[in-house]
Amino acid sequence: GVDISLSGRTRVITVSNQKGGVGKTTSTVNLAAALASMGARVLVIDLDPQGNASTALGVPHDSETPSVYDVLIDDFPIADIVQTSPESPNLLCAPSTIHLAGAEIELVSQVAREHRLKTALDTYLTELTERLDFVIIDCPPSLGLLTINAFTAAHELLIPIQCEYYALEGLSQLLGTVRMIQKHLNTTLHLSTIMLTMYDGRTRLAQQVAEEVREHFPEEVLHTMIPRSVRVSEAPSFGQTVIAYDGQSAGAIAYREAAVEIIGRDKDSSVTIEGTP
Ligand code: ADP
Ligand code: MG
Repeated sequence: GVDISLSGRTRVITVSNQKGGVGKTTSTVNLAAALASMGARVLVIDLDPQGNASTALGVPHDSETPSVYDVLIDDFPIADIVQTSPESPNLLCAPSTIHLAGAEIELVSQVAREHRLKTALDTYLTELTERLDFVIIDCPPSLGLLTINAFTAAHELLIPIQCEYYALEGLSQLLGTVRMIQKHLNTTLHLSTIMLTMYDGRTRLAQQVAEEVREHFPEEVLHTMIPRSVRVSEAPSFGQTVIAYDGQSAGAIAYREAAVEIIGRDKDSSVTIEGTP
């Protein structure tokens, strides 16, 4: 088994890339479930109006459900919208609903519009009675006000990169936005992690992309690459993460290995992996 010791601080990680379909949501929910399976307490904030993270975590998010929309627009406390995933008591989700699609526009006229998620999250974390080890924010595929709220609330940025043509395209725009946030809104935000997703080692292209990304970001890229796997793409249709759906599949193993790496990057946390008895 895996024995983890965590710092006691809450690490707030935003999973962002303005490209769609690169594995943001898949990485958010599976990383969160992997961390939870090792005993970490994790909150996923679903900031995408599509609500795919809420679906994958088996959490109801119909239009009547109190959601991140109510937090951002109507000052609901996060505690009032958080649900527990049926998958694990350690796995929490602040769901998104379709209303969030309007929030991008509605936020424009709000006071402190870039800080609304951060303010709500700070209050939530201060009032929590149980510890929370990770908050992982799933962003929509844009650099609008929803993503800017995530960047303002987070300490760390995790960028999933799909091992395909044009993998690095758009990255300079993303990193430019991060620099702007660091300068004006959140000095603690930093790019901590790059995760290579949908890796198919049989293709020369995937190998080349992985090499190229590692050359540019030697510190940030995780050793673990997430393989392209049917089990990973099937899991959400069962309202599950791949950790619950097929815990022995290559995708589940990779997300657990990535979770171990991410825990280990915090100097005050440790991971001990023992042989299975
Ligand atoms: P994003 O949130 O960046 O738009 P998703 O996480 O929704 O991307 O992934 C896009 C599509 O790719 C989804 O259909 C998802 O099931 C699939 N997918 C993601 N990761 C993998 C993987 N490792 N293997 C196979 N399919 C994957
Ligand atoms: Mg998504």
